[in-house]
Amino acid sequence: MTDLRIADCRITPIAFYDPPLLNNGGCHQPFALRSVIEVETEDGVIGLGESYGTRSLIDAVAALAPDLRGMAVTDLNGLWARARTRVQGGMPGYTGDERLLPRVVSAVEVAMWDALGKATGQRVVDLLGGQVRETVPFSAYLFYKFAGHAGQPADDWGEVLSPERLVDEARRFIETHGFRAIKLKAGILPPEEEVAGLEALRAAFPEAPLRIDPNGGWHVHTALDLLPRLEGLVEYLEDPTVGIDGNAVIQARTDVPLATNMYVVAQSHLPPNMAQDAFRVILSDHHYWGGLKASRDLAEICRIWGLGLSMHSNSHLGISLAAMTHLAAATPNLTYDCDTHYPWQVDEVVEGGRFEFRDGSLSVPEGPGLGVTLDRDALARLHQNYLDCGYTHRDDESEMQKHQPGWRFQRPRY
Ligand SMILES: [Mg+2]
Repeated sequence: MTDLRIADCRITPIAFYDPPLLNNGGCHQPFALRSVIEVETEDGVIGLGESYGTRSLIDAVAALAPDLRGMAVTDLNGLWARARTRVQGGMPGYTGDERLLPRVVSAVEVAMWDALGKATGQRVVDLLGGQVRETVPFSAYLFYKFAGHAGQPADDWGEVLSPERLVDEARRFIETHGFRAIKLKAGILPPEEEVAGLEALRAAFPEAPLRIDPNGGWHVHTALDLLPRLEGLVEYLEDPTVGIDGNAVIQARTDVPLATNMYVVAQSHLPPNMAQDAFRVILSDHHYWGGLKASRDLAEICRIWGLGLSMHSNSHLGISLAAMTHLAAATPNLTYDCDTHYPWQVDEVVEGGRFEFRDGSLSVPEGPGLGVTLDRDALARLHQNYLDCGYTHRDDESEMQKHQPGWRFQRPRY
């Protein structure tokens, strides 16, 4: 009988190159932070996870790791109980941080699923209930961007700040990866310009489902004024303004579904959201909902209450992409194409190099567990990046100030 008890849990912070992409919070820094989690069983099977690279998450996982020794990789309740004790009770400075607990659980939980799958010869998609779709469709995730990072030469995408350049960016995404749906990250330029960008995308790609995500960057009255242009143009409107209350005002005035990855991000947000009919689409994200099991639970809640379901993304590499693909392939009611930042990245931390999209979709990786193995040379190189770049958290506002001195984060801005 295979020994499924945990012998060791390790977390390695990494940093990888990221282009100067713009959003309501500012500009992406030259390096994005991430972490790689390894859960090793008594038999030496290693399960992998990938999560955020912020200091608080890394400290919390490292503090929890000794408590996991001897626990079965199947014991998700045991993981939650230990994380609750360690993260909420025993982490000086972090007590009561509601957001940290599910992030810590998720970071370890994915690696536990991977270890279980690798130890027993089963794919994670099968452990999560079985594969319901052959391939998982992703969307083209468009950003406005500067030509290059402050003080550095232009990258090969160049500056994208106009509708024409946005269409060029979309064309390159679609020609390279075959995406069908198009999402525009917004909340940074004046809203009329951003909607003009969407209208240019509609003219260039008449069949593509479109979305826009201002990240809460618009006032309620701004969103209401723009509704006549957005209706019939977008499949959903993502986080147009701040909070459940504000977005409920907008949802009451339109049939376009509102979507969120900002204001319904924990189970406790679901009852007020349903009571106020603020968001009709939830963008799930296993990295902050508490892992793959919690995300499957969320999908069931969405099914029961008639909410749409899609998937949110941050800058990430292949372990996360594999986990997202297994989860999406095991989720019957995934009603929209998933988001991913992956095409903006050039680095990879798994063996075999970068994933390739076919017709905008990914097949579930072959092999047991998540179907990916760690490239240890790449891990060492990306960890060295982390040490060299000196970041401890993401800071889009100060990066933006290098391009536009005096720029200040504002939400809503317009
Ligand atoms: Mg969003």
